[in-house]
Amino acid sequence: MDNYSESERIIRSLYKITSAYDQGFDFQLQALLKMGLERFNLDIAILSQIDGECYSIVQCICPDDVQIEAGDCFELGKTYCSVTSHAGGPIAIENVGQSDELGHHPAYRELQLESYIGIPVYCRGKLFGTLNFSSAAPYPRQFKDIDIDSLQLMASWIEVELLRRQQEAELQSLNRKLQEQARTDSLTKLPNRRSLFKHLRKEVKRINQNASKSTLVVIDIDHFKKINDQYGHQHGDKTLVAIAGTLREALRSDDFVARYGGEEFVLWLPETKPEQIDDICERIMAGIKALHITAKPITVSMGICHFDCSGEYQNSIDTLLDMLISHADKALYLAKQNGRNRYEKCSLHIDGITFSGEQDRCSFH
Ligand code: GH3
Ligand code: MG
Ligand code: MG
Repeated sequence: MDNYSESERIIRSLYKITSAYDQGFDFQLQALLKMGLERFNLDIAILSQIDGECYSIVQCICPDDVQIEAGDCFELGKTYCSVTSHAGGPIAIENVGQSDELGHHPAYRELQLESYIGIPVYCRGKLFGTLNFSSAAPYPRQFKDIDIDSLQLMASWIEVELLRRQQEAELQSLNRKLQEQARTDSLTKLPNRRSLFKHLRKEVKRINQNASKSTLVVIDIDHFKKINDQYGHQHGDKTLVAIAGTLREALRSDDFVARYGGEEFVLWLPETKPEQIDDICERIMAGIKALHITAKPITVSMGICHFDCSGEYQNSIDTLLDMLISHADKALYLAKQNGRNRYEKCSLHIDGITFSGEQDRCSFH
């Protein structure tokens, strides 16, 4: 076969492998290593990653009696790749034992691999690892320019693909961060109003379907404006962060807390019995009083709407949710009117398209 058709064959095989991206990177790498083994007529193929003195196998193909597999790590100094990694280009040796470069290398004494062809692989200008092929038997012919060209082509494709995958991972991570930011209140790191409503819609639907019960609590800091006026806005912000931390700590695993707006928070306490609600609210109020961020203890007022569903409510979930919030708001208003530093409760029974409720007053001392 002449050189032209030989190089054409290599390019065709490489094209076939590199365009099979739907099969995944691991599959493509295996195919590439296999192609190299056939091309060079050798029997060990490795893509390695080098991190300091650690040489780890990313992917490999080897005969049964050579026991290495992806994930294995070796000391870099004990591999031929310690030389390749500093060579800045390909190294091809047909008979290692007789060569100046590797003949006295510790790897030769240990592994007795006679033929070797390898190249450094870079990513973003930094060494990633090596692509190398080797065999215990000496290479029966000379490595040719076309062998070096093929090796370079394979390494370039790996470099492009590594970079693309790194960029893709960075984009995905950025995307996750943006989604997280869209859900989170930047000051307190609690879920924001938007994710509160998303959660509540899903939860109210579930509670209604399961004919279950839940509690919605609106919390408002008492005289927060005075804290800002007296200590400055920044200290006000610190107070909000500390209170958010207290709320987060007071919750059980299925509960949910969000920053509702300014100095208001909403708690969602699913499947909670009325007597447990008092415990939770009193624990929160005591926790906030104990914060010592201001000279006088900080107090909060709460409006509590406890409700149970019989499972027959057929109207829109948004209407039901609005109603729950509006009742919790009314209870909060009452708590403020009644002197602050307290909670007021109302309970609703949701059945059919109607609901019935009672206002239950309760104060905190
Ligand atoms: P009340 O007991 O009636 O609730 O009195 P209040 O002073 O807490 O209520 P008001 O609604 O009069 O004031 C709320 C204050 O919260 C006004 C606003 O400047 C402040 N606030 C809202 N969001 C933030 C914030 O993110 N940081 C800070 N530092 N202050 C905020
Ligand atoms: Mg308020
Ligand atoms: Mg307030």
